[in-house]
Amino acid sequence: MFIRPHSLAIITTHQCTAACDHCCFTCSPYVTKSLRYERMEQLIDEAAQIPSLCVISFTGGECFLLGDKLDALISRASGYGLVTRCVTNGYWAVTPKAAEQRVAKLVKAGLKEINFSTGTFHSRYIPVQRVINAACACVQAGLTTLINIEICNESDFKPELITEHPVLAEYIANRSLTVQRSVWIEAEGISPVTHPEEHSRFNPDRKSGCQTILNVLAVTPDEHLVACCGLHLERIPDLHLGSVSQKSIRQVLDEAPDDFLKIWIHVEGPERILEFVKRYVPDYELPVHSAHPCETCLRLHKDKVARTVIREHYREVEDEVVSLYLAGMASNALNTAVLRQYQGQQTLATDEA
Ligand code: SF4
Ligand code: SF4
Repeated sequence: MFIRPHSLAIITTHQCTAACDHCCFTCSPYVTKSLRYERMEQLIDEAAQIPSLCVISFTGGECFLLGDKLDALISRASGYGLVTRCVTNGYWAVTPKAAEQRVAKLVKAGLKEINFSTGTFHSRYIPVQRVINAACACVQAGLTTLINIEICNESDFKPELITEHPVLAEYIANRSLTVQRSVWIEAEGISPVTHPEEHSRFNPDRKSGCQTILNVLAVTPDEHLVACCGLHLERIPDLHLGSVSQKSIRQVLDEAPDDFLKIWIHVEGPERILEFVKRYVPDYELPVHSAHPCETCLRLHKDKVARTVIREHYREVEDEVVSLYLAGMASNALNTAVLRQYQGQQTLATDEA
């Protein structure tokens, strides 16, 4: 009842042409776990039946490894009137001409948006020039184009390669290209990734609700439907709504319990929830070095103390949080009716802990 997704991210494969340190899904050329092509076709058909859903993004791993099948999937989704987006490292744009030719096919298939990732870790595998070739071709073809550049203390990437590039700078100035810095976070067991103190998610100006959870669903190569497309979705079982290997997206959504913690994360974000925990456990150590909400979210879900406090005290904030969620979700009249129906019927993902 509380899940009205506007987007579906299809994590087409964990295979990638790169093997970046700290990749959130540990993708590489040697990992072959992928969604079956026929299942991806069905997922698009199922997504088209969900009225709130209007965007399909193809991601990975590297979705361009699908070759012509990627174009066919884009075409299928576009045929339903869905907005389509690809997320890629740009490896395929070997030359400006190659980029132009590949992008022309994507546009013909109906692609509307494309996001590129680059930075220190990516550029060890994919030369930044390919991202530049690809971005130029996409902007020229009229696609909504965005370049994400990793940010962390360990980065020696020069963003000026993008922002001061003679052609890209012009696109940035006339707003046909967006460049943003994306916090690069550490994966377990690899070299440290750190961030300046001012990037702490616990700084008052950086705390925010998670706009992704319940709004952007993801399907993993294991055919799990997940309530967000966050960086740690593979490591947080509570975010998994169920398997779509034998059921449709709609069925899994209909059977998923209304989990208050997801609503709370959406409204307040994981940092404020951990601060709530600290009110009951004054010596609780907040992960103040967290520079990304998904990092804080992983701690929130894995920490036994936090889960216990949440389980014991969440009712104290429940009505206020649910009201705020509903206020942002639908009309006031509908919200009131749903709130009445909801009161006293919800479950909590930490109940089983
Ligand atoms: S390009 Fe993206 S998906 Fe591929 S290894 Fe790097 S971070 Fe992972
Ligand atoms: S903060 Fe949590 S719920 Fe939100 S996107 Fe990240 S992992 Fe998902």
